[in-house]
Amino acid sequence: MRILSLTCLAILTTVAIAAAETPSNTHCPMSGKPIDPKLGCVAMKLGDGPDAQTVQVGTCTKECADMLVADGKTYRVRVWSTMKDDPKHPHIKGFPPDEVKEACCNVTCPVSGKAIDPARKPVNYRFSEAFTQKNPDAQKSVLVGFCSDHCMGEFTAAPQKFEDALWLQQKNKKVKNK
Ligand SMILES: [Zn+2]
Ligand SMILES: [Zn+2]
Repeated sequence: MRILSLTCLAILTTVAIAAAETPSNTHCPMSGKPIDPKLGCVAMKLGDGPDAQTVQVGTCTKECADMLVADGKTYRVRVWSTMKDDPKHPHIKGFPPDEVKEACCNVTCPVSGKAIDPARKPVNYRFSEAFTQKNPDAQKSVLVGFCSDHCMGEFTAAPQKFEDALWLQQKNKKVKNK
């Protein structure tokens, strides 16, 4: 009995999910859907070197939380994209530009057509229901990079205008990566 309870304790302490913490995001980094506060948070380190900081990440399902716990490094730009801008830490820095470019579905800005600026936080965008019904192959939740704040503002004001262009970029990028 004693051994059993020690094992349970070990499991509880190795998995970095804490119910008491307040999440720094409102939407799940993996799906773009609203988070479920009942699931608690995954503690993750974002950024590299002296700019690194630990953030509390909420998710929409247990599966999303498990993916972050298992392979946080792969998804950390996604996590960054859902972080609320905190007055104490307005920008989480320290991501290599290539990592940000790789994580975004687009190479050029959907608004201006210029190259995206990988120093900017990408937008975590979930395609509309109407779009995903027409294009079932499109990845539903994507990271979108921009060249400027102005373009990001235009996009977030009316994102559905840019869905076709984003899907085209997503397809082209996949072909290029092969
Ligand atoms: Zn999720
Ligand atoms: Zn732009």
